[in-house]
Amino acid sequence: MTVQIQKVGVIGAGQMGNGIAHVSAAAGIDVVMLDVKAEALAKAMATIGKNMDRQVTKGSLSAEQKDAALARIVTTVDYASFGDCDMVIEAATEKEDLKRSIFKTLVPHLSPTAMIASNTSSISITRMAAVTDRPERFIGMHFMNPVPVMKLVEIIRGIATDEPTFQATLALAERLGKTISAAEDFPGFIVNRILVPMINEAVYALYEGVGSITSIDTGMKLGANHPMGPLELADFIGLDTCLSIMQVLHDGLSDSKYRPCPLLVKYVEAGWYGRKTGRGFYDYSTTPPKPTR
Ligand code: NAD
Repeated sequence: MTVQIQKVGVIGAGQMGNGIAHVSAAAGIDVVMLDVKAEALAKAMATIGKNMDRQVTKGSLSAEQKDAALARIVTTVDYASFGDCDMVIEAATEKEDLKRSIFKTLVPHLSPTAMIASNTSSISITRMAAVTDRPERFIGMHFMNPVPVMKLVEIIRGIATDEPTFQATLALAERLGKTISAAEDFPGFIVNRILVPMINEAVYALYEGVGSITSIDTGMKLGANHPMGPLELADFIGLDTCLSIMQVLHDGLSDSKYRPCPLLVKYVEAGWYGRKTGRGFYDYSTTPPKPTR
């Protein structure tokens, strides 16, 4: 019988973590959300409230459902709060060392049957699972941004992931109203293996002067029928995350076609991460946002 998940933990309260907490609570699941920064937790709760208000206005959630969902989310900076979670979903910054140290800290606090999922965009599920005491109950659950809006969840089994964990994760994704795509555990899985090199190529087109930011984004929106241009999308994802994914593809597949564009590296070095820092390929201090080159 498939394990029913009653309570989830979420680690990392950034743009993905708050979205995962949002959809879980809205589906009637209790949530414990942890971050290293208390201010990130306060910001996440404010974002969830604002996003739920939008759903109430649109009529997809009632005011009572919103209040009940918000009341299901508890925030914490203490790993002991994960003791009665059936699954903990990690959505912290895309850095392997950081994620490994999170898993090492997490496991002593978990119940023996608890499962662990990582929302990583690209890092090996098998390698992260190996630092835990339960590689068979470790899985990749890759949500898309923004989580309450995007339908897809990519599910990635590590080499040791067992069938009950896979089935419980499928059932959880379905309960959250998502559609599943199953991917094997290779760098970038499916979506980012294809998407992020395209974004990196758009940054090369800018770097080499093939076109301006506006020309590149307009070209891909109207010429390829993409809802967002690749540079606009890069800002939306976070340039730090895009660079980390390119580094994982480059290191993991050892093919020079995945080398990160030096201009992407420079933007990240400058701390220009995109929307979340107010500046990336566009400057978000003005409406509409202004191209930065
Ligand atoms: P973000 O920068 O918005 O949030 C990361 C959060 O992790 C921050 O609140 C930070 O304080 C917290 N954090 C850092 N170190 C921590 C620690 N040791 N313990 C607990 N929390 C810690 O990033 P994001 O866009 O939400 O990305 C999070 C994860 O989701 C990454 O693995 C990323 O690859 C993945 N992801 C991102 C997207 C996207 O479009 N941005 C899509 C799918 C998956």
